[in-house]
Amino acid sequence: MGSDDSKTTRPNAAQPKMAGQWRPRTRAVRAGLARTGFSETSEALFLTSGYVYGSAAEAEESFDGTRDRMVYSRFKNPTIATFEQRLAQLEAAPAGFDVGCRATASGMAAVHAALLCQLKAGDRVVASRALFGSCQWIINELLPRFGIERVFVDGPDLEAWAKALSKPTACVFLETPANPTLEIIDIAAVADLAHKAGAKLVVDNVFATPILQSPLMLGADIVVYSATKHMDGQGRCLGGAVVADQAFCQDVLGPYLRNTGPTLSPFNAWVLLKGLETLDLRVERHCANALKVARFLESHPKVARVLYPGLESHPQHALAARQMSGWGSILAVELKGGKPTAYSLLDHLELIDISNNLGDAKSLITHPWTTTHQRLSPEDKLAMGISEGMLRLSVGIEDGDDLVEDLDRALGG
Ligand SMILES: *Cc1c(COP(=O)(O)O)cnc(C)c1O
Repeated sequence: MGSDDSKTTRPNAAQPKMAGQWRPRTRAVRAGLARTGFSETSEALFLTSGYVYGSAAEAEESFDGTRDRMVYSRFKNPTIATFEQRLAQLEAAPAGFDVGCRATASGMAAVHAALLCQLKAGDRVVASRALFGSCQWIINELLPRFGIERVFVDGPDLEAWAKALSKPTACVFLETPANPTLEIIDIAAVADLAHKAGAKLVVDNVFATPILQSPLMLGADIVVYSATKHMDGQGRCLGGAVVADQAFCQDVLGPYLRNTGPTLSPFNAWVLLKGLETLDLRVERHCANALKVARFLESHPKVARVLYPGLESHPQHALAARQMSGWGSILAVELKGGKPTAYSLLDHLELIDISNNLGDAKSLITHPWTTTHQRLSPEDKLAMGISEGMLRLSVGIEDGDDLVEDLDRALGG
């Protein structure tokens, strides 16, 4: 570095003055960027667990709060903080909503912390029935162990929500679109009912991503993500995040995370924050491919039903159009002939991989009955809308025509 470089380089740590007015696509690429003294282009990766102090007094001030600085990476780390700031700025929120974000080691750590940090014995939780398997386990199995009452409702049934929320409630948890049935829940209507019952609304926004759906804009209080899915988007690492107002992040969630330690690794934070840079582009291709595949499957004689919010045949197509700006990357397909036909399709695919992950650049397909939702009883699976002939397809960003050809060939097999 020449000695004059410092004069021509913009200040390292500060964000440009205009950063607050950047549009979402710009924020996804640049928000939270704090360059070090080396003026690197790409975000620095701080693989460090601890930090050093110039003096004993500086260490003391760092612990008593007089000095705001890094102390230990379970509490705070520059790379993790960059990811948190970028995601906080990607999440659209109403004017005056001071958005904060805390990263976690996985999506489940985010769901667990978002709920447990604010619940106590005697509280009541209302949740939608069709949930990701582990979210269902936390609410159905774990919460009752701590004396927390839980009530499940059919997500699309607003009367059921109103009835369940006619009593004081601490938290409402829902997932929309839901896994794997692609059921859509009216976030604004449930937010209203939740707030009247004194509850905070927590939305699992994994399927939609912050690109396609903004729960805070619709009245939700807290949004949880598995960053493992579309944010990484290339199947490399686990991660999660909770997005909520700053006061909640600092005073309620912060101490819970700091002392229980489900901390994201700085390396994974770096991978995920680079993932955010291309999230918008990838989601656009995911959506275009998914619609093409959904239309093809719907027209195939061996297919009984396709569940995809973008199809006019989806029971909540109009609601999805109202609260989402795109239809997402995931669809469910029910085959005539049940499990044998579903297995035959899986075993004849050459391009699309059999895998229970989702939101990956690669197209992945799974049989929820025997994989992701295997542990549920047959009655619970059927109540959630999962049948033995159902497959969940996470459509990737390959050429959509190749995906259609692969499915067409495998359905003939
Ligand atoms: C994957 C997923 C989770 C859990 O995320 P992990 O990163 O696997 O812990 C939670 N909710 C939904 C909807 C998911 O798809």
